[in-house]
Amino acid sequence: MNTFHYTAPNKRMRLSAPSVFIALALSVVVCLHAPLSRSQERCGAGNALEASVEEIASGVYVRAGVTATMTADNAGAIANVGFIIGTEAIAVIDTGGSACDGSRLRAAIRARSQLPIKFVINTHMHPDHVFGNAAFVADGPTFIGHHNLARALAARGAHYLEANRDIMGAAALAGTEIIAPGLPVEDPIEIALGGTTLEIVAHPTGHTDNDLTVFDRRTRTLWTGDLVFLEHLPVVDGSLKGWLAVMDALKKIPALRAVPGHGPVSVPWPRGVADQERYLAVLVEDLRGLIATGRSMNDAIAVAAESERDKWLLFDEFNARNASVGFAELEWE
Ligand SMILES: [Zn+2]
Repeated sequence: MNTFHYTAPNKRMRLSAPSVFIALALSVVVCLHAPLSRSQERCGAGNALEASVEEIASGVYVRAGVTATMTADNAGAIANVGFIIGTEAIAVIDTGGSACDGSRLRAAIRARSQLPIKFVINTHMHPDHVFGNAAFVADGPTFIGHHNLARALAARGAHYLEANRDIMGAAALAGTEIIAPGLPVEDPIEIALGGTTLEIVAHPTGHTDNDLTVFDRRTRTLWTGDLVFLEHLPVVDGSLKGWLAVMDALKKIPALRAVPGHGPVSVPWPRGVADQERYLAVLVEDLRGLIATGRSMNDAIAVAAESERDKWLLFDEFNARNASVGFAELEWE
């Protein structure tokens, strides 16, 4: 059951003039008295700096994420996120890791176009991809996600907020809200921006159970979300075998380039998925070998995919977790 409800922005954002004045006055007081972290400086009221974006194809812009975990200093800006500008409308694809991060992305859009932001597409549930949604609510877009996304955010959203407040500090996540999709995608859909059409596809369980891809027909650019990682070790939060199957399907898409969820902002397609494919295949092969020789899960986690250690960033942060997910999945084959 979906316990999240999309709230119409005009209802949520209605503020009386006195309340706006009080909020502004309070923010001035806070600014005068509290030392600001770097993320707050960049996102001060009315002073959101633009995210630095790269136009990787005509009308297709990506803000590169840093390869790191979410911290106050990076404002959660660790995933590749961006937008596509058509002749009539704009679609945002993932919104970043905080309302602050989202507001910088929005500022980058507005520096380039005043067309309506009609769509905000979330590729999956992870905080670095959805925590910036609140920055776009006042634009009144249709929020689009996988049909499992609302359920996933209902189950995990509160925990994501709490855990990241502990890590990043409450100030870095000021204004950050969980906003579920108003338009769930099950069968593929198309949305028109004028001058181009985006094909949006919901996939079976892979990186997560709510992965969505976006294909821009005009430039043949495929936004993979976290179905593709480069440099940053892939993170399995769904199904190891499922992900390998989804990758096989993605490779058949006639894209010229892809925007991976982490790593470079643009990679040739399908060549760009080769590193990830190798890592996941090694992990499966190692785990199968360890299971066949009767090794325990703990033993397996300690050694599986060790040959990949030097080929990735954040290996220690995520490999053991991937191995435990994979072990649980493969031991009953
Ligand atoms: Zn993810």
